Parts: sequence; C-alpha cells; structure tokens
Amino acid sequence: MSSKKKTATSGSKKRTAGKEKTPDVVIVSSEAWPWVKTGGLADVAGALPRAMAQAGARVRLFVPLYKSIDRKKFKIPSRGGVKFRVPVSARIMEGTAHMISPSDNLEVWFIEQEQYFGREGVYLDPTGHDYPDNLERFAFFSRAVLETLIASGQPPDIIHCNDWQTGMIPAYLKTIYAGVPFFKNTGSLITIHNMGYQGRFHPSQWHLLGISWDHFHPGGLECYGHINLLKGGLIHADIITTVSPTYSQEILTPDGGFGLDGLLLHRVDRLHGVLNGIDTQEWNPATDQLIPHNFNRSDMAGKALCKTELLRNMRLDRGEGPLMAVVSRLADGKGMELLADCLDPMLAKGAQFLLLGSGDKALEQRFKQLAVSWPGQVSVTIGYDEALSHSIQAGSDMLLVPSRYEPCGLTQMYALAYGTAPLVRATGGLNDTVRQYDRATGEGNGFKFDEYSKEALLAKALEGIEFYLTDRRNWNKMVKMGMGEDNSWGRSARKYFSLYRLASSSGGK
Ligand code: ADP
Repeated sequence: MSSKKKTATSGSKKRTAGKEKTPDVVIVSSEAWPWVKTGGLADVAGALPRAMAQAGARVRLFVPLYKSIDRKKFKIPSRGGVKFRVPVSARIMEGTAHMISPSDNLEVWFIEQEQYFGREGVYLDPTGHDYPDNLERFAFFSRAVLETLIASGQPPDIIHCNDWQTGMIPAYLKTIYAGVPFFKNTGSLITIHNMGYQGRFHPSQWHLLGISWDHFHPGGLECYGHINLLKGGLIHADIITTVSPTYSQEILTPDGGFGLDGLLLHRVDRLHGVLNGIDTQEWNPATDQLIPHNFNRSDMAGKALCKTELLRNMRLDRGEGPLMAVVSRLADGKGMELLADCLDPMLAKGAQFLLLGSGDKALEQRFKQLAVSWPGQVSVTIGYDEALSHSIQAGSDMLLVPSRYEPCGLTQMYALAYGTAPLVRATGGLNDTVRQYDRATGEGNGFKFDEYSKEALLAKALEGIEFYLTDRRNWNKMVKMGMGEDNSWGRSARKYFSLYRLASSSGGK
C-alpha cells in the first residue's frame, strides 16, 4: 500500500504537467458489442472505448473470448498472442490473450481460456441458471487482464472496470499487486451499471480468489455472510461511478443500494454519476438507413412521412391524437403494468398506442388483448426487432418510459434525437435526460412524473395528449429542443477523462 502511495503522487505530477494529455486507458468488461452482448453493458463497453479512442486516448478493451464470439468474422487470431499464467487455488491456469485493432488508438484484447469461456452461455447455462463456477471464471478473467498487461510491458494510467465481474481488479491492485512496480502509476475506476447484480458467492469459494482470509469481513469483501465481488471493487477502486447522476443518489438509499448503500455512503466522496451516451452513428435521423425517410431539426418533413409509413405498416388508422410508443423489455421495473392500467382512458382521449417488446408472458398477453379491444388504435408486436425500433422512434410522437427504476436508460435519448417527446418517470437517467416542458417559459424537452402510480402516469399522459392536440406549434418547438441536445458518447468520454485524472492523483489513498 505504501509503495502505491508514493508512486501515485509522482503519477499525478506527470499528468498535471501535461493537462492536455489524453489518458492511456484499459477498459474491462464481461461483454462488449458487437462481439458479445446479453444486455446494456455490452452497448456501453462497445461504444465508450470507440468514443475515447476518437478523442485521442489510447484504449485497450479486454473481454473474455467466449465460444459464441465469431472468431473468423472478427478476425481474431487463432495463433500467437500473449501467454499468461494465473494461480487459481492450488492450480496454475494458463491462458492466451489475442488482440485485434478495429480502429486507430483502439485495441481489443480477448482472453482465451477454454475451460472457463469455451461454453455456450456467457453467464447462464442452457437451463437459464448461473454457471456454478462464475466466481472462478471472472476472478480468473480479472487476474488474466493484469497478467496480460504486465506481459505486454505497457502500464495504463487507468483500469476502468464494469460491474461485479471485474470487481476483483481494484481489489487485486490494492492487495496482491499492491507492491508490483508495473502498476505504480495505475489508478482504478469501477462503474456500476445496475446495483441489483453484485456477484454474491458462498464463502467456500474464497480459496479461488487468491487473496488472504483477512479480507473476508464486513469491512472487506464479505457481505451478510457471502463473498461479494462488486463490494470488492467498490471498496478498493480509486473512483466509483454509476451511469447517471440521479442513480448515484438513489443507490445511497436502502431501496436502491441493495445492501451496499452503507458502504457507498462511506465512499461518497469517490462516487460520481456519468450518463451513458448514445451511438450517434447508429442513431441519427439524418443518416439512419433503417428508417424510410431521413430528417433533421431544420427539415422535419421526413418525420411526418415516417409516421405515415409506420401507421400503415402497423395497421393503425390515421388519427388526430399523438402516436405513443413503447420499445422495451417487458420486465420488472419497467412500469409496464402501470401503463397497461392507464391505456383505456388515454385511448379514449384519442391517443394511438404502439408497443414493441417481449419478456413477461402475462404482460405480453395483456397488451395483445388491448390490441384486440382497440383495433386501428393499438398495435402490439411481441419480439426483438432492431430495425422496427428505429422506425418507431422516427415515426412516433411520444415514447413512454414509466420505469420504477432505470440506472440510465437509452430509449429516451433515442427519442429525443428523433424528435419524439419522451414521457418518463423521474428516476435514474430518465430524470437526468428529460426535463418537464413548461408551457409558460417554453423550457423543457418532454414530460416527467414523480410518484410511481397509475394516477401520476395517467395525469402526465393526458397532459401530453392535450398539448399535442391543442398547441402543435409549441410541441414542434419542444421536440426540436430535444433534437439539439448532446447525448453522445463523446460527452461521456470527456467526463470519464477528468475522473481518470482524479483516480490517478488519488490512487492508493
Ligand atoms: P435496458 O438495458 O434496461 O433494457 P435501455 O433503455 O438502457 O434498457 O436499453 C434497451 C435497449 O434495447 C435499447 O437500445 C432499446 O432500443 C432496445 N430494445 C429493447 N427492447 C427491444 C425490442 N423488443 N426490439 C428492439 N430493440 C429493443
């Protein structure tokens, strides 16, 4: 620990001297698009490294080489690579790191280890259960990253970890690697994408982590009798971030902290909220190839044509009221039960409703029934359809996101970019990206309600419907305001750069 302290100071000097210097970044994630994706983490870990590399940083992204990754398609070498060895309990596990460089300044390193990653699933077996050796797999992965870096001979300024799967990296840096000169100027940052997933394991697996039992206590990696890998990261990282400023406050409460709120309160001076961004190459109405007509802020004609086409394709009538849409997993926390309860009075006021989503079977059934009850006014598509999701964002008037909790959320940002007014509950990133429109001042980019209740959602939806029906001129001004906002990854990358400097200068304290 003490050697780290000394060197952290010299590291910070180096970086303050050249303030403009972009950092040498390592990002570690258990999934990253387009190589492997099970959820939103992959979108972040795919887009953020690219944005940082474009901003001039040297970026190395590390992911496991899962069996599902198409080695040929992504031109991942099957020979050579960096060989490394990781002790796992009493064994030595060998592995190889293979590198590709998809663009300037960006390297993607795949950690190959057949026994851990050469299987069908990423986290789950074919029956949908967690693999029983997930602790071992991701502790190995975490240590493999550190060993590969040492073998490559180029220390980074920062290691940016994501979620519990990489929580052991900050813990290793402050324990078994604390005296390793190679990492003397390397800070660590961990991003929490969803507090609900912490990587909890039975203490009988402790021996697989390779650190002393001295760290298994409530002030260390123990949490209510279990090993908690996210906690390992939160205790030891120089900086903690989560994916929106509002979520960074919500996780400090018993409701949002899932048992780790006390620890986070203790480290609140290290906790920051950085909003995720959207990929503006994929989500730009002026260039999007997945929508029938392109448009932009100064020429909105294409949006009206997109709506006409969407209504036709979805077999909806041409109505006076707004076309209100949902593109979402039908899962707990997304507020879909609330919405289903409110739809009848919204439709009675003249709104039209369109849903693309899948998940909970009872909810799927409920929405399908609504489509039967309101022919021409409600359309429900069950499934996952990337192209349709773009057409919906382009052709709708409002996007409904009434989530109970939402660490960041992306769909409301796509809606803003496509001139579709978001209607959201004031939680997490929804609260940070959507501002309630004020008809008196003309300020705001959408509609926002606070209380998680059917009444609050319905009142806000009726307000939106009435505004759309009675004041289209100001409606258009409102959505153009949203279209002009910067929700790009470039903005997020710049925020992370300043936090990296903070992590390096506070490393080891
Ligand atoms: P979460 O990660 O909780 O699902 P986000 O809003 O952060 O919520 O991200 C959801 C992403 O998945 C968005 O890109 C959204 O467009 C996409 N998505 C969700 N459901 C569907 C669907 N049925 N078809 C196409 N895209 C979908």
